[in-house]
Amino acid sequence: ARKFFVGGNFKMNGSRASIKKIVEDLNNVDLPSDVEVVIAPPALYIHCAKELLKNLEIKVAAQNAFPKPSGAYTGEISAPQIKDAGADWVILGHSERRTIIKESDEFVAEKTVHALENGLGVILCIGELLEERDTGMTLVVCNRQLDAVIDKVKDWSNIVIAYEPVWAIGTGLAATPEDAQSTHAEIRQYLAEKLGEDQASKIRILYGGSVNGKNAKSFNACPDIDGYLVGGASLKPEFIDIIKSRE
Ligand code: 13P
Repeated sequence: ARKFFVGGNFKMNGSRASIKKIVEDLNNVDLPSDVEVVIAPPALYIHCAKELLKNLEIKVAAQNAFPKPSGAYTGEISAPQIKDAGADWVILGHSERRTIIKESDEFVAEKTVHALENGLGVILCIGELLEERDTGMTLVVCNRQLDAVIDKVKDWSNIVIAYEPVWAIGTGLAATPEDAQSTHAEIRQYLAEKLGEDQASKIRILYGGSVNGKNAKSFNACPDIDGYLVGGASLKPEFIDIIKSRE
């Protein structure tokens, strides 16, 4: 069985004080042991979050990594540095990086290879824009984003996929459970064709896009939804309700 996974992507939000509060709130609740919880504060606060976490089952992620171990890459951070700061995961290919920072599928794939080689787990984000959805291109886009990584990575045991339709991110308009389940099932089918049934059956596919404390449970009956990547709500107390949504 695939372990339920809940990631909190803080994006470029928070301060030392607010992140301390989020971590303390997580320290003070009994979290279900069958849920993997990963929080992704801005890189500046990874070390501080890691030091403050008392529940060592909760892991920390970076939101990006550059595909070189060190060197003259002003402003970038490397996978070994992320590990050194105490994180075990990195989010790659988030739509905000693909669209605003113009990261290509190829570059995301390069980063994925580098992160995996340096012992980080990768939360690989894929998903279509509204106009792509409206023109029936959802699967074409997701498969193209996956293909770039499939070309370079054959062992997906340390990759978790986050399907995040761009139109659902930060809009309050989450995908319906039926839509999300059907896209997740098609993604898994594609992974089975490319990587084999065995690997495909083990890869966790998270849903992301306007997940909150209220709607999380509505996805409980979706067999191919293995958790969530949460943005805005991960900064709020309702993040704990999302972590507990399968109880
Ligand atoms: P929201 O939960 O704020 O819609 O963001 C989702 C997301 O982008 C997580 O990576």
